[in-house]
Amino acid sequence: MRFCIHRGTHEIGGTCVEIESQGKRIVLDIGLPLDVTDPDAMALHPVPGFDKPDPSLLGVVISHPHQDHYGLAYRLPQETTFLIGEAAQSILEAADFFTPAGLKLQHVIHMAHRIPIELGPFTITPYLVDHSAYDAYAVLVEADGKRLFYSGDFRAHGRKAKLVEQLIADPPKDVDVLLMEGTTLGRPESEQGFPSEDELVPKFVEMFEQTDGLVLVWASGQNIDRLVTLYKACRRAKRQLILDVYTIHILRATGNEHIPQAGWQDIRVFLPKSQKRRILQDQSFELVNPLKTYRIYPEAFATEADRSVMLFRPSMIRDLDAIEHLKIGRLIVSVWGGYLKNEKNKPLMGWLEQRSIPMDRCHTSGHADANLLGDIRRAFPQALLVPIHGEAPETFARWPDRLLVGNDGEWYEINY
Ligand SMILES: [Zn+2]
Repeated sequence: MRFCIHRGTHEIGGTCVEIESQGKRIVLDIGLPLDVTDPDAMALHPVPGFDKPDPSLLGVVISHPHQDHYGLAYRLPQETTFLIGEAAQSILEAADFFTPAGLKLQHVIHMAHRIPIELGPFTITPYLVDHSAYDAYAVLVEADGKRLFYSGDFRAHGRKAKLVEQLIADPPKDVDVLLMEGTTLGRPESEQGFPSEDELVPKFVEMFEQTDGLVLVWASGQNIDRLVTLYKACRRAKRQLILDVYTIHILRATGNEHIPQAGWQDIRVFLPKSQKRRILQDQSFELVNPLKTYRIYPEAFATEADRSVMLFRPSMIRDLDAIEHLKIGRLIVSVWGGYLKNEKNKPLMGWLEQRSIPMDRCHTSGHADANLLGDIRRAFPQALLVPIHGEAPETFARWPDRLLVGNDGEWYEINY
């Protein structure tokens, strides 16, 4: 068995790993690099089967539904077999209707926690992990008597922390190569550790309680853990949570009845103009008609502002500006801080200033801190450690034994 990291040895995102055994191949992730603005124009990695169908490419694993792991999948031939979690696939399909970043896959094998999948010479065993994307997996790949473990993106301070603790307590044995993400390594916060999702709840509650008027929370509609956090905080602060139709469909796509949904107490549904346009264009009224009872219409926003929290994205500014006499008390930014520096979000800053809306932050990382990365490294003591999905692979030198800092596009034979 040999492997090649086509992209991701020295950057966060754009991950793509090819593994070969007996002339057959599989690929782990086909991510859109964070700095690529035109994915249509990006040259695909030199993997047979990417440009046109090739029977030696047996499957492409999508570890989790984040664009930097699946964002180039739409460029592959329709015949390509994908391995992805069932909920992850549903989430990408639900997103596909409303955003250009969604994905519809034709040929799919569903991954499930610790259920091995045989694919030619490969045995692929997925391990469900804790991450800010729902239905995220690490995978063990076995062939030719060799074993490679790919961590995917993970953490242990979210709502599935136990799974990662179990992985550390009972890891696959005799792993030869460990491809481990290092997103946060090199950042001082990573050494201190990140707050847990549950620790965010009282922080949100306090901010909600201190606000007159509507609270806006900017968070991803696909960060399910965060939406659960917000719902819990809303219940405690006695505010209703207003979610847009897109987010409601993402929540439903998880297939998990324990996750907040339309119909739950104090969840209201809002249809932003952009989503309304999309529904009208496609005549897809079945997406909104069943939600009628839970809808909140613009007129009610002003009168119910004091007892509402709204999940916000900068694209909703126009919807809010169209509502008369709406008092917006605060914006809480609950996404990665880097987005704030993005040129694209300059109009948001101008808008906040113009409407005198104070901005606060309340967030925790989707990725492992330095301590947890050390725990994972030690769980695979015999493995060659190969950094991936990090900007500073040299920071892995804190685990100097059996360390290989590779380069994009280089092949490595697993033969020791
Ligand atoms: Zn991710």
